Amino acid sequence: MSAYTVTNPATGTVEATYPNATDEQVAAAIDAADEAYRTWGRTSTKASRAALLARVADLYDERKDELATIINHEMGKKLDEAVGEVEFSASIYRYYAEHGEEFLADQPIDRDAAGSAVVRKMPIGALVGVMPWNYPYYQVARFAAPNLMLGNTIVLKHAALCPKSSAAMEAIFSEAGFPKGSFTNLYADFDQVHSLISDPRVRGVSLTGSERAGVTIAQEAGAALKKVVCELGGSDPFIVLGTSDMDALVQTAVAGKYENCGQVCNGPKRFIIVDSLYDEFLKRFAEASSAVELGPLCSLKAAERLSAQVADAVADGATLALGDGKNDGAFFAPTILTDIPAGSKARYQEFFGPVSQFYRVKDEAEAIALANDTPYGLGSYVFTTDPAQGERVADALETGMTYVNEVGADSAELPFGGVKNSGFGRELGSLGINEFVNLKLISLD
Ligand code: NAP
Repeated sequence: MSAYTVTNPATGTVEATYPNATDEQVAAAIDAADEAYRTWGRTSTKASRAALLARVADLYDERKDELATIINHEMGKKLDEAVGEVEFSASIYRYYAEHGEEFLADQPIDRDAAGSAVVRKMPIGALVGVMPWNYPYYQVARFAAPNLMLGNTIVLKHAALCPKSSAAMEAIFSEAGFPKGSFTNLYADFDQVHSLISDPRVRGVSLTGSERAGVTIAQEAGAALKKVVCELGGSDPFIVLGTSDMDALVQTAVAGKYENCGQVCNGPKRFIIVDSLYDEFLKRFAEASSAVELGPLCSLKAAERLSAQVADAVADGATLALGDGKNDGAFFAPTILTDIPAGSKARYQEFFGPVSQFYRVKDEAEAIALANDTPYGLGSYVFTTDPAQGERVADALETGMTYVNEVGADSAELPFGGVKNSGFGRELGSLGINEFVNLKLISLD
């Protein structure tokens, strides 16, 4: 059976399989991507590319129910959340349609010598995108929207769980009027991805996925001297140092924790709570968590992996404060781990699902030290009633993003990315269009 298979995680039923790409299809995809870069990416106007992206945004909005149903079947996302993801993706295409020309404007340089000089932002060529299943449309939008605006072309290797949504995206780009080769979906295996990365016509690689995939893909891109953006895993701290509204805080924590069944790279994973609020927050969070109704995780395998991680944590001395830590098929109930011993493996792993770790700390300094004691550095959340403390803690946290007194505030204009083992590079906002760009100096005497 092809790896590219839709298996509904809620029922375990195999609903569709898609044949793996042949080597001939891979060769044709890169030929077409390179050709489209030369004939369209380098020559079309910014305004025309913006118009195509605006059309893509409209098509996402028009087809939101159909697109949402596809991912509900592929990876189990609840329908209302799936519709939200499609709308968010549309907003990203629209954002680059509206702001792309301004982001790509020439930057004049004040030079000492006579003459004039500008930095012109130009495309660099065909790019390979390797994308995960957790937000099948949004992850692709973060990569595709700025790069198509720039004139780069894209070969997509989506997650094996997402063959239908990736085909639906390719159809949308084609219907919007993007030329052949500007966006190609390939059901490629890893060897084929690696052959694409080493092809001289491919000029960059963007991966959103696990640390494990990041190591392999960054090595291969490095060996071929290609730029790579890696958006990898996280174990984001949710730090509570003060609150004037415990109800709102618990609601915010629950909403952030259980979005997408906890399968969110920058979702709150380690709750670090100051001693005076710990008992009440834990009690209220556990009560609210028990009332949450979750859909399945993306697959049976993912649920079994999470069970094994929780079992290891308990074997190392952690306490299960909520849940039995066992999966029921692809389903996994909200689970809370407390008293995780210093040095235990669980402290340094990403738990990709509805599992929360709780830590009690005496003060701000201990919270910061614990929050930074992780290989990851994606996002972080700080709750405080003191704005100066919010900024101070934000400065001290070794993460690519800190949100003070909010969760889930992601938006097209806010840059996204991490430090440490969470990766490098930025997506979204004005920064997202500057990753795979030729910042070309044109100097005129
Ligand atoms: P994954 O196993 O790394 O898969 C992600 C993508 O990489 C899939 O398309 C996968 O293909 C492909 N892949 C994996 N190993 C590869 C290799 N050696 N060569 C070529 N392609 C390879 O990640 P996942 O477990 O599905 O996704 C969850 C992870 O992604 C979590 O760690 C999460 O935190 C992270 N994530 C990060 C961000 C961010 O923005 N920082 C956003 C979302 C998710 P197959 O599907 O065919 O295996």
